[in-house]
Amino acid sequence: MTTAPADTRRDLIGLTRPELTEALAAAGVPERQRRMRMRQLWSWIYHRGVMSFAEMTDISKELRQALNQHFRIGRLEVVTEQISSDGTRKWLLRLDPDSRGQRHEIETVYIPEEDRGTLCISSQVGCTLTCSFCHTGTQKLVRNLTAAEIVGQIMLARDRLGDWPGATAEDPRGLPNAERKISNVVLMGMGEPLYNFDNVRDACAVTADGEGLGLGKRRITLSTSGVAPEIPRWGEEAGTMLAISLHAVRDELRDKLVPINKKWPIKELLQACRNFPGLSNAKRITFEYVMLKGVNDSVADAKELVRLLAKIPAKINLIPFNPWPGAPYECSDWEQIEKFAEVVNRAGYASPVRSPRGRDIMAACGQLRSESVKQRASARLATSV
Ligand code: SAH
Ligand code: SF4
Repeated sequence: MTTAPADTRRDLIGLTRPELTEALAAAGVPERQRRMRMRQLWSWIYHRGVMSFAEMTDISKELRQALNQHFRIGRLEVVTEQISSDGTRKWLLRLDPDSRGQRHEIETVYIPEEDRGTLCISSQVGCTLTCSFCHTGTQKLVRNLTAAEIVGQIMLARDRLGDWPGATAEDPRGLPNAERKISNVVLMGMGEPLYNFDNVRDACAVTADGEGLGLGKRRITLSTSGVAPEIPRWGEEAGTMLAISLHAVRDELRDKLVPINKKWPIKELLQACRNFPGLSNAKRITFEYVMLKGVNDSVADAKELVRLLAKIPAKINLIPFNPWPGAPYECSDWEQIEKFAEVVNRAGYASPVRSPRGRDIMAACGQLRSESVKQRASARLATSV
């Protein structure tokens, strides 16, 4: 069997402003032209969604050819696309071969509402952490995603949703009635984004930039299980919105649910949140709290939650537990969620319960997982002969 030679051209997707300027220099673009060329390229790539240099009609033919020799505008490969009865979409995406020639897979989820759409993207293949209620946590970390692969999830979703000027979706069922189908991006897919800090930060910079994907920092939310020392740095270097997977109000229980708590317990985590740059009533931190039957869902827990967060500009998001095969928990009864929510509501937090979306296609919070495993050298040898 012959396979096509690997495309070694550099992917322009996900390169930051300085990286792209440097890449243009290496490709021989004179210094005085680089700023303008960067603008032109970004406009074609991120505002119009083109995938070939040939379409870039305001760039001379010679330069287009030169660019084509050095660069490509990549897309992730769709393995499957599933559409839930509630309109939620989930893509299983195959990554380009890594340095060992392995092609790993990740999941990306799109959650449409009437007038907006949220894309939930992954930051790692698998996760190093092992939160006991999370399906992703049962898949060992395979590797970090590159900035190209993080931004690539947004590009691919925009293709599939017809979210480019003049484009239409192949299957428009359930899409919002809004000019932009993706109005928000959340880093709540597979992986712990703060353990892939630099690549996630670079991807967010391109996503927020008005000349890049143009979403703005306030429409991007990073969710962390609580990597406390990186929280203030994230605020300084990326400045997006922040969500914290709190899930328990006592260290003893949080140690079990979110084991990173043993390293950075609740007090330290909340102190890091207080030090989040720009924190104000207009820029609140979201605290996520998964509702586990008989585990963390008592009214006493709700009262303690409200007490703990009293001096932090916060939103509270109660997430009904989403089941997965073999999960050791059940979702709290609706009645109990309501009782819990009432305490939270009375403390002044509006509409705190997140309605589960896409459960029928295993696309809801914490249900994502792919079959990718990190092969040991011996196993790779065994399969390659
Ligand atoms: N690793 C990051 C982001 C991904 S998880 C983090 O942990 O924050 C996104 C959210 O889904 C987190 O709040 C996570 O705790 C929650 N979650 C995980 N498994 C879940 C499940 N089975 N049901 C509901 N929420 C879950
Ligand atoms: Fe990893 Fe987040 Fe799942 Fe915990 S909840 S295992 S940090 S993806």
